[in-house]
Amino acid sequence: MARHDHQLHEGESLKSAARERLTQQGEQWTGMRAAVFAALASFEKPASAYDIAEAVSKTEGRRIAANSVYRILDLFVGANLARRVESANAYVANQHPECLHDCIFLICDTCGQAVHIDDDALSASIRKAATNAGFSAPRPVIEVRGTCGECEDD
Ligand SMILES: [Zn+2]
Ligand SMILES: [Zn+2]
Ligand SMILES: [Zn+2]
Repeated sequence: MARHDHQLHEGESLKSAARERLTQQGEQWTGMRAAVFAALASFEKPASAYDIAEAVSKTEGRRIAANSVYRILDLFVGANLARRVESANAYVANQHPECLHDCIFLICDTCGQAVHIDDDALSASIRKAATNAGFSAPRPVIEVRGTCGECEDD
């Protein structure tokens, strides 16, 4: 995909973009999926399936197993509604569910926050290098660890 300025959704606009994307894929936006997405989007940092299961259990008023949350998160990742932050073993809501990018995450070692950037030129050159090395269907996972601006100021 060419470089473009896409909209980064937040709040209600993020929820409706996610719902639209999922239903376009022929999947239902069930109450449980909506609750998992709302919980995921409410975290300021990448959240584990356990964190999300706990948050959903509170809002739903009944115990939700982490396994059911995992299955929904898998569906969300496949549908471009969520991204997995591999080095944190956690998930974030994808702020641009309508367009595909190899999202790049900058993760703060101090506070755990993940800053999200998209740089298709960078990921395209990684894809090309992988293809040149005989790798097929490369899926770049680009994560940078360091200290975020807020923690640096302290
Ligand atoms: Zn985009
Ligand atoms: Zn992205
Ligand atoms: Zn930080």
